[in-house]
Amino acid sequence: MQDYPKLNISTFASWSPSGDNPLIIAGPCAAESKEQVNNTARRLVENGGVHIFRAGLWKPRTSPNSFTGVGRVGLKWLKSVKKTYSIPIATEVMSAKQLLLAVDSDIDYVWIGARTSVNPYSMDEIAAAMGNIDIPVFIKNPLTPDLSAWIGAIERINNAGINKIAVVHRGFQSVYSAPLRNEPIWNIPIKLKCLYPSMPIICDPSHITGNTKFIANIVNKAISLDVSGFMIEVHENPSAALTDEKQQLTPTELSVLLKKIDGFVSNSLSLHAQISNDEEYTQIDHLRALIDSFDENIIKTLSQRFEATKEIGEIKKKLNISALQVTRWQEVMKNRLEEGKKLGLSEQFTTNLMELIHDEALKSQE
Ligand code: PEP
Ligand code: MN
Repeated sequence: MQDYPKLNISTFASWSPSGDNPLIIAGPCAAESKEQVNNTARRLVENGGVHIFRAGLWKPRTSPNSFTGVGRVGLKWLKSVKKTYSIPIATEVMSAKQLLLAVDSDIDYVWIGARTSVNPYSMDEIAAAMGNIDIPVFIKNPLTPDLSAWIGAIERINNAGINKIAVVHRGFQSVYSAPLRNEPIWNIPIKLKCLYPSMPIICDPSHITGNTKFIANIVNKAISLDVSGFMIEVHENPSAALTDEKQQLTPTELSVLLKKIDGFVSNSLSLHAQISNDEEYTQIDHLRALIDSFDENIIKTLSQRFEATKEIGEIKKKLNISALQVTRWQEVMKNRLEEGKKLGLSEQFTTNLMELIHDEALKSQE
C-alpha cells in the first residue's frame, strides 16, 4: 500500500459561504473587460444562488496568439464587483507573484489550476509565498490522471499553513475523453474522498464537458457522489467569449441549472432515505452480494495465476531467457480478446485488463 500524507483540513462548513447547501462558484472563464465582468456579476447576483464570483485573469493558452487574459488590471474590476454587489471574489493564481497581487486586491479565495497543480515546482513556489496569507484555496486536479500528484499539490499548500482547502475535480486530459473535453475518471476523486473523508470536493462540469449540453448530466452524477459544490463558467454572451465559448452558460441558463441542482439534491436525499425499504434496493443488495462473491473469485484466480507465472519465472531464470516473450504474449492477447469478445467484453477493457495482469506478472518474474 502506498503511503499517503496526513492532512490537516478544516471542515467545509467552518468556512464555506454556502452553509449546508452546495457551494456555487460562477463567473466567466476569463475577465475580458470591466463591462463584461460587471454585467455578468450583476446578472448573477440579481438571479441569486451564487456564493462566489469567479473570473480568470491570466489565461495560459495553447497558442501564443490567443487571448491570454487581461492580467492585473482585472483585479480592480473584481474588487469593484465585490464592493458593488457584496459578493466574495475568486481568481486563479499560477505563481507567487500573482498570489501576492490577488491578495493585495482583497481577493477572498484563490484557485490553483490544472496546469499548475501538475507542476511540483510551481506548487513549491506558491506554497512558499503563502507566508501569513490565510485565505481558502481551491486546488484543481492536475491535467494528468495522477492522484499522487494531486495529493502532493494539496500537501504543499497544507504544509504552508493553509487548512481551508477544497479540491476541484475538472477532469483529466485523455485520448478517451470524447465527447467530453476532459475525462472525469470518477474513481480518482472517489479515492481521494476515501483517503480524506473531510476533504470537500467541488465539481467543475464546465471543464469536464467543454460543452454546455453535457453539463446537467455531469452535475447529476457529481451529486450522487456527494460533492460539496460546483464551479461553473458563466458569460453574459458566451458566443462572443474570448475563451472557452462552448462551455460557458448564460446567467439565465445558470439559473435553470441551479433549479435542477436543487431537484437533483432532494432526489438524492430521498433516495438515501428510501434505501432500506424499497424492493429495488433489496434487489440491489442481492446483486451486490453476488458481485462480492465474483470479486472474491477474481482475486483468488489472479493470485493462482501469479503463482504459476512466478514458477515459470524461476524456470526462465535457469534457462537464462528473458521474462518477456513477445510471440507468446501476442498469442495470449489475441486469444483473450477473442474469448472476451464472445462473452461481450469490450476490446478496450480486455486489452487494459490483460496489459495490467501481464505487467504485474513480468514484474514478479524480473
Ligand atoms: C479555469 O477555471 O478557468 C481554468 C483554466 O481551469 P483549469 O485549470 O481546470 O483548466
Ligand atoms: Mn475556462
